[in-house]
Amino acid sequence: MRVDRLLGRAVLLAAFGLSFAGPARAENGPQAMAPQGDTYTLKLPAGEPATANAGTGTVQFIGTATVLIRYQGLTILTDPNFLHKGDHVHLGYGLTSQRQTNPAIEFDKLPPIDLVILSHMHEDHFDKLVQERLNRNTPIVTTREASEKLKRLGFQQRFALSDWDKLEVTKGDTRVRVTSVPGRHGAAGVSVLLPTVMGSVLDFGANADAPDYRMYISGDTLVYDDIRSIPQRFPGIDLALLHLGGTRILGVFKVTMDGKDGVQMMQIVKPKKTIPIHYNDYDVFKSPLAEFAREVKAAGLEDSVVYLAHGDTYTFTPRKR
Ligand SMILES: [Zn+2]
Repeated sequence: MRVDRLLGRAVLLAAFGLSFAGPARAENGPQAMAPQGDTYTLKLPAGEPATANAGTGTVQFIGTATVLIRYQGLTILTDPNFLHKGDHVHLGYGLTSQRQTNPAIEFDKLPPIDLVILSHMHEDHFDKLVQERLNRNTPIVTTREASEKLKRLGFQQRFALSDWDKLEVTKGDTRVRVTSVPGRHGAAGVSVLLPTVMGSVLDFGANADAPDYRMYISGDTLVYDDIRSIPQRFPGIDLALLHLGGTRILGVFKVTMDGKDGVQMMQIVKPKKTIPIHYNDYDVFKSPLAEFAREVKAAGLEDSVVYLAHGDTYTFTPRKR
């Protein structure tokens, strides 16, 4: 373990050095090539008929980046993490982190899940308990890299997306399109040693190009050039779920957005509402929610932020067509 850790540290430091020494990247601009991406489909068996609350959708914050999204009979779970306070996760290179919170719902108490959206394969986003107990037939949409790991774990229904690839999901009359959008876990030099990350845009409704509701989930990313292509391709985002925490590995390298970055992200993506998540669950999260709140206030964006404690639910109303 100790050797692992030293080795990891050396490798990370070397990579950090390279990120400065390497040649400058060509300035193509995110729209220069404008790849369209591939489209995949997932047809789920129609469930119960629409309930009394069919006109609204909900986002329940469970903890870390784990969120339960419900929309017209469809249930989506993001980045499932159901470990408890005091449990440890392994982040590679011998690095571990201790959980500081409990999930608001126990794994065994979850409703039936139609789809999991996994931003990347790190144990604070897809932990050992979930790896062991999640039904092997649960559809999971994620990165190509994470999909390979899921394959080895025996998960059967994997949708491996690269940037701008889409998954069209139907369940009865309910439709959502999930598009993989850019995300990068840290500065260029550091991120190559960490899992690839995808952000995602969820377009709810019959016409995904004119969605009834548009949601953006950042994934563990910093703000960098490619992020600007997200609002260019997906204007009018209704709700953004931002992974904050200002995560530091080895106490030095920032690999997720801190409070200031979160506000910068809001200014670029321009969501109507923002919900911060992934902010206090592990000891590697160094930027408390109060830091984000302070920056939000300073930027005059308070009206657009919804703060959820673990277990809280935000109700949204899709546009009627
Ligand atoms: Zn994370």
